[in-house]
Amino acid sequence: MKIYRRNFFKLIGISIFSSFLLPYKLLYSATKKIINLDLSDKQKSIMFDEATERPYSSPLNHEKRNGFFHCANCGAKLFSSKAKFDSGTGWPSFTESLPGAFKTKIDYSLGMKRIEYHCANCGVHHGHVFADGLQKKRFCSNGLCLIFKLEN
Ligand SMILES: [Zn+2]
Repeated sequence: MKIYRRNFFKLIGISIFSSFLLPYKLLYSATKKIINLDLSDKQKSIMFDEATERPYSSPLNHEKRNGFFHCANCGAKLFSSKAKFDSGTGWPSFTESLPGAFKTKIDYSLGMKRIEYHCANCGVHHGHVFADGLQKKRFCSNGLCLIFKLEN
């Protein structure tokens, strides 16, 4: 009887726990949609499964011209080249995003608390925002999620 009761409470505990998580998970994944049908598998793994590209792999690390960085999935304008700086981390880094470009959520993966940011328009993952460096904010971006367009 004792064992039965313990299992019963365990079961209740698990269902309460998962009912908290489930709607959030569903809600979050429902906001992500593939808009650009030409996305590569690597781009999709970052955008939809929150993978990270290899540091120093993005050609955008060296992009210094005037223009804007857009979401590679939906085309939304996310960063101005004026906010870009060389953080030395190997990922395209920005001090600030354009207003309303991103939504954030707390990410506890890899055993740390990090702030993840995703496109406010299509919901795909772009990177993490850190409070380090000379600037108070560092948007650490996956270059594969961005498309650079010269300012006209
Ligand atoms: Zn987008």
